[in-house]
Amino acid sequence: MQTNAAVVRDVNQLTVETVELDAPKANEVLVRVRAAGVCHSDLHNMRGELRLTPPFVIGHEGAGIVEAVGSSVTRVKPGDRVLVNWLPADGTCPTCLSGHPNLCERFAKTTFQGWLPDGTSRLKTLDGVQLKHLLSAATMSEYAVIDQASAIPFPADVPFEVAAIIGCAVATGVGAVINTARAQAGSSAAVIGCGGVGLSAIQGCKLAGCHPIIAVDVLDRKLEFARQMGATEIVNAKQVDVVKTLRALTRVGPDYVFDTVGSATTIPQALQAAGPAGTVVVAGLHAAKIDVPISAGALIFADKRLLGSFAGSIRPQIDLPRLVELYRAGRRQLDALITKRYPLAEVAQAFADMEAGVVARGVLLFE
Ligand SMILES: [Zn+2]
Ligand SMILES: [Zn+2]
Repeated sequence: MQTNAAVVRDVNQLTVETVELDAPKANEVLVRVRAAGVCHSDLHNMRGELRLTPPFVIGHEGAGIVEAVGSSVTRVKPGDRVLVNWLPADGTCPTCLSGHPNLCERFAKTTFQGWLPDGTSRLKTLDGVQLKHLLSAATMSEYAVIDQASAIPFPADVPFEVAAIIGCAVATGVGAVINTARAQAGSSAAVIGCGGVGLSAIQGCKLAGCHPIIAVDVLDRKLEFARQMGATEIVNAKQVDVVKTLRALTRVGPDYVFDTVGSATTIPQALQAAGPAGTVVVAGLHAAKIDVPISAGALIFADKRLLGSFAGSIRPQIDLPRLVELYRAGRRQLDALITKRYPLAEVAQAFADMEAGVVARGVLLFE
């Protein structure tokens, strides 16, 4: 069949074009996409900063309706609403079995290279050039073929746009707090960076019962979003010294610092700012290619912990349905996280707005 999709033909070359999409194989599902989240990881991939090389169909956050299923599919059926999990773990490798399906051993050769879990593609251009599927998802397309492990069903009272962002930004931010740090109620927390992941981490801190919850960013607009999401204090890193201010607000430094920027500036800052026996969690993919000098003394003499969090350390099959239920129970403010909606044709504008920091989270909506 044919579908309109956002295609990265070469590094930094994004076009919307009609492409060919093959039918799902035995373990796969054809989804009519209704919403796709716009995420920084898409940009990193478009710029060639991660492992994926073009050409590929972009997008990894999405939600839609199952149109057709392959012969071996048991998890979903046509008509089901599904959100896209871009971590389609095999569930059988030693890493999955040890409770870390976000680190499944299959991803290196498949998902991170832009293949479906069986190592192949269902996408090609009209002139026959094979296209990869970004993160086994390729959701910025009217239709997508995904593995059944990527299809997480959700109830009809959850809007597609909300379901779409649960699969990535929300899971990464909340997961960093709940799964990676296991933050305790009553502890103090700071979140550096107030994009989609940072705002979700703030909500995760609220869910965990942290207080105070301090948001740090360089844009006042984003700090206002942070306040709406539950931050009790806001700090503009352009105006004050972040380390001193975080210490002043918590007497000795926060119990937890969540760094969703992950730069050579913020990681050492986070480590310095964390209080005695404090925990620093580095989340988000910005840090993928940098080396950061850290003070080993800060770790040893103050008993600090420096943790990495990949996709919020989530176990997708358990945690994504759980995040959906928390939203339904009114425990998550996900509607407010989405501040702008775009048709597929305006995908380039959606990325520009994200970079300019004028949206909390943008989503593409499909008819
Ligand atoms: Zn595995
Ligand atoms: Zn994402």
